[in-house]
Amino acid sequence: MRMCDAHCDTMMKIDEGLTCDFSFEKASACGGFLQIFACFTEDGESDAYFAALRKINRFLDFIREKDNCCVAYTPCAAKRITEAGGLAAVLSLENCACLEDDPENIYKFYNLGVRCITLTWNGANSFAGGCLERGGLTKRGRDLLQIAGRLGILVDVSHLNEQSFYDVLSEGSCKVFASHSSCAEINDNPRNLTDLQILKIYSRGGIVCACPNPPFLNGSRKAKREEFAQHIRHIMRLTDGRGAGIGSDCDGTENCCEWLKTTADYLNFDKVLEENNFTKFEIRDIFSCNFGRFFGICDKK
Ligand SMILES: [Zn+2]
Repeated sequence: MRMCDAHCDTMMKIDEGLTCDFSFEKASACGGFLQIFACFTEDGESDAYFAALRKINRFLDFIREKDNCCVAYTPCAAKRITEAGGLAAVLSLENCACLEDDPENIYKFYNLGVRCITLTWNGANSFAGGCLERGGLTKRGRDLLQIAGRLGILVDVSHLNEQSFYDVLSEGSCKVFASHSSCAEINDNPRNLTDLQILKIYSRGGIVCACPNPPFLNGSRKAKREEFAQHIRHIMRLTDGRGAGIGSDCDGTENCCEWLKTTADYLNFDKVLEENNFTKFEIRDIFSCNFGRFFGICDKK
């Protein structure tokens, strides 16, 4: 497998009929690509439950037409698809506000293929508090995590505030990871993670997927390639080289780096890491093995 990317918002663009920076053609022809496709719900979005069902159904219709691309309902399926060189699409919910206060609604989305949940966006919902709000994990949030643990749904802690983050990590059985966050030690942005948070995720067997949005990298609207490499290096150092991945946020923001926007840019990013003194083994770990191991599709220990 050549590439794993833990977060993109391409589903949102498909729903709106817009042109995507994510290329299904390039991803399904590169020699194995695993992409988590998020179904994003805006804070305060009306009819969020039905809107989320619509977004996922449109996405499923869209990829039905695509060659060499399948929804991965299990890690085994993701392994088979990527070993055959194709694109394994893993579905997630970004902001469980679309469950409209009822944790049991997750079953409906699970049955459509959702295998990962980001509990909040930046605001609070009935399950937890996001990074721009106060408040931790609620009773409903705990119930949702119990169901997620039972179904094997991955729990994404990107977007949570610190209180919710530590509440989630104290809850036991779920597999946790951060799908698109960078390092607060380098740039103190509320969407970034402190060193302690990164260590906690790693000690639970999780992974932190660095995100190249300039506001996360340096607080401005522009960033250099080396700055993204520096955030990845920081996570690698904290996690013995085994807990860093990439969460591109492709199609998710206007604020992206112009040099790291499309699938082609991502597939060429290994050269940038090489220039920044990452070894071939480290690059393979960052691009695919670390996430693959976390997800259960990579045999490399
Ligand atoms: Zn996001």
